[in-house]
Amino acid sequence: TEPLLKVEGLKKYFPIKSGILGQVKNYVKAVDDVSFTVNEGETLGIVGESGCGKSTTGRMLMRLLEPTEGKVFFDGKELTSISNADMRKMRRDIQMVFQDPYASLNPRHTIEKILMEPLNVHDIGDPKERKRKVHEFLEIVGLSSYHAKRYPHQFSGGQRQRIGIARALMTNPKLIIADEPVSALDVSIQAQVLNLMQDLQKELKLTYIFIAHDLGVVRHISDRVGVMYLGQMAELADSEALYEKPLHPYTQALLGAVPVPDPDFVREEIIIKGDVPNPANPPSGCRFHTRCPFKMDICETTVPIFAEVEKGHSVACHLYEQSRPQ
Ligand code: SF4
Ligand code: MG
Repeated sequence: TEPLLKVEGLKKYFPIKSGILGQVKNYVKAVDDVSFTVNEGETLGIVGESGCGKSTTGRMLMRLLEPTEGKVFFDGKELTSISNADMRKMRRDIQMVFQDPYASLNPRHTIEKILMEPLNVHDIGDPKERKRKVHEFLEIVGLSSYHAKRYPHQFSGGQRQRIGIARALMTNPKLIIADEPVSALDVSIQAQVLNLMQDLQKELKLTYIFIAHDLGVVRHISDRVGVMYLGQMAELADSEALYEKPLHPYTQALLGAVPVPDPDFVREEIIIKGDVPNPANPPSGCRFHTRCPFKMDICETTVPIFAEVEKGHSVACHLYEQSRPQ
């Protein structure tokens, strides 16, 4: 069967302008040739340090940002070429949950009004049905409908994220793109919100893209995980394979699983000391070569191909024959 979402060669280059004429001096290659699929009902985790392009990727899937290049197939339609009006309709089926629910909830509106808005925008139901649906979804995310007349500031961070999730669910979407939905929450609350999201996925047959900066957060919720580095996909695999047998040195470092005598040393070298290079001027060849303990000559000159090395397990690294151009 076809995947629900298929992303092919997605790129986002932000121009860097200079001078009074605003000539384009260079580009920040925020996302540079990223491809992946998401199957119906699964969760794809996308992980990477800040600036790796994971949020930019998420926003392009909904066309909140226009891609510079590439194609996004969703439910049989190619989204980058449809009209803005058709895209607005598609947003019924693809919804987003954001990192900071407080910033994304209008402080002057009651929860009822906030949750009603997507129904108004997409013209779903009559006023009475809309109100009933708001109350129903408040209960579904574990908040009493008695909260409907309250304002965002009257809720805790975890409750606000439940409201953010309820808002994303109002239109009965197929795909939810959650961009660091628990990063701003206390660890104890994180688990509750993750559990809620997993329960909702089963009940409502949702498909998730779950963006995080930490591999630990997505471990239990993800069926597959992609690791991004400087605008590119470094590795993508079933969760079990990725955590048990990471192939890319960057993933190994993130997991503290580098197979060398002193893993702490390497972890420190790569993750703490090494800065993420400037995406306007990324390293030649493999973008990770400035931080990689296994760097070879070919790594500085030649871009590794993102290739399937084991079944369902793809990686872009010259340590693997499949990544080396013939
Ligand atoms: Fe390291 Fe080379 Fe693999 Fe890049 S291609 S991760 S530099 S070994
Ligand atoms: Mg981000």
